[in-house]
Amino acid sequence: MGDAAVIAAAQLNRLGFTAFFTRRGDRFDFSPEQPECDENLRHLTRITGCPQPHQAIQTHQCGALWCAGDGSMHRVSADILLSDAKRCAVAVRSADCLPILLADVRLHRVAAIHAGWRGTAAAVACIAVRALLARGSRVEDLYAAMGPSIGRCCFRIDTATAQALCAHTAAAAQYIHPADGSQCYADLAAINRLQLRLAGVAGQQIEQLGDCTYCHPSEFFSYRREGAQAGRHLAVVATP
Ligand SMILES: [Zn+2]
Repeated sequence: MGDAAVIAAAQLNRLGFTAFFTRRGDRFDFSPEQPECDENLRHLTRITGCPQPHQAIQTHQCGALWCAGDGSMHRVSADILLSDAKRCAVAVRSADCLPILLADVRLHRVAAIHAGWRGTAAAVACIAVRALLARGSRVEDLYAAMGPSIGRCCFRIDTATAQALCAHTAAAAQYIHPADGSQCYADLAAINRLQLRLAGVAGQQIEQLGDCTYCHPSEFFSYRREGAQAGRHLAVVATP
């Protein structure tokens, strides 16, 4: 691949999976509201050699959608997209939320997960792992890549959100630190990493890529910085 426009998930690539996170750039806004979105997708598949990815309507919940065949935008709500079809790509969009890619190296399966604070509070990463295990995957065969998201430097939340993040994962509290007033800073990536570890994924099989989306405006879109109009990154993983 080697294109600077995307951040390659090196570990997954070495294992035979196409997997990457897009950066900000010309023709790199994948928001469905953006009129050039389809053309940008075609451009992306051209430069990466990746099949057109399956996508769905993301609602910060834990719905899972198994995909096969040619990629398209599914008009259903799903924040976990999975596939075990040959040469099939799945993707999630994000701007501050954490994108997570999963691959089963034995059964050649993949999953793309959209983990914002609501998804993280509901342990969406664990739910995705369970969806794979329910169909015969073994946890020791799972590898993960976590992409750019809002960092612990900038992810300021209120007490209610902090409590929600710990509801399913009590140990998440170690990654939430008090700011001033009743505010806290949370480390979304660390909490999701913890959830993957609790689901049984080995630490050395989880790769973390990219910087804080809020701190690096030339490199990343940020919902918190730019509002609802912010562009969207795409996190893509494809089976061999
Ligand atoms: Zn930051």
